[in-house]
Amino acid sequence: MTATVPFRGVDMHCHLDLFPDHQAEIRAAETASVFTLAVTTTPRAWPRNRELTAESPHVNAALGLHPQLVGDFAHELPLWRKSLPEARFVGEVGLDAGPRYYKSFDLQKKVFRTVLEDCAEIGDKILSVHSVRSAAVVLDLVESHLPAELGTVVLHWFTGTATEARRATSLGCYFSVNVAMTQTDKGRALVASLPLDRLLTETDGPFTKSIDNKPSRPADAVQVEAAIARIRGESAAQISRAITTNLNTLLRRSSP
Ligand code: MN
Repeated sequence: MTATVPFRGVDMHCHLDLFPDHQAEIRAAETASVFTLAVTTTPRAWPRNRELTAESPHVNAALGLHPQLVGDFAHELPLWRKSLPEARFVGEVGLDAGPRYYKSFDLQKKVFRTVLEDCAEIGDKILSVHSVRSAAVVLDLVESHLPAELGTVVLHWFTGTATEARRATSLGCYFSVNVAMTQTDKGRALVASLPLDRLLTETDGPFTKSIDNKPSRPADAVQVEAAIARIRGESAAQISRAITTNLNTLLRRSSP
């Protein structure tokens, strides 16, 4: 399936089901041949996302339980666990210790730990992980509950420190970089420092904006490649090749 289909560009984290026309966005990503991970925010969204992407070689649905929704939707964790055997890709999951979500942080940790343990038990999962203001705790939990040989973590929109990024790298994590990360000094410093063989791209559409100021879509992932190339002083072709190689490595490594 996905691992063998040629693709032009990678969007490792996009909320296609939050666009007004979900099916049109799937078709557009398919037409553009962009490998797309269509993340979801609650397990109730999984069956529909799975069904709509079943015949799409480039678009893959991921089973999620977003940390910002854990405060209200933790009761859906049993549904998430029940669905996991059907899912190769998991996300959006993780932790958010920002002020709006801090009151659910203990509950988020419990949920994320269960997510990691379940993924480890089944094996071969690829996870798109949110880690706002919580990179150290996310990495502690990954280190304890999902060793690299049992699953692969892709840190989405990573905003941790350089030290945390090195620790994540040593734990086997990848990083999916979006356009917003290339627009701040801190983000650019991080993008410049990440190992080339762990870089992936994402849009996090509709939560970032493309250069024409519209919500980012999978086809906009190539704009991120260009921005990464400028920051790192490499050619867009070099970055594009590296990202293609990285995705193929990731998919192969996680194949049974
Ligand atoms: Mn997201």
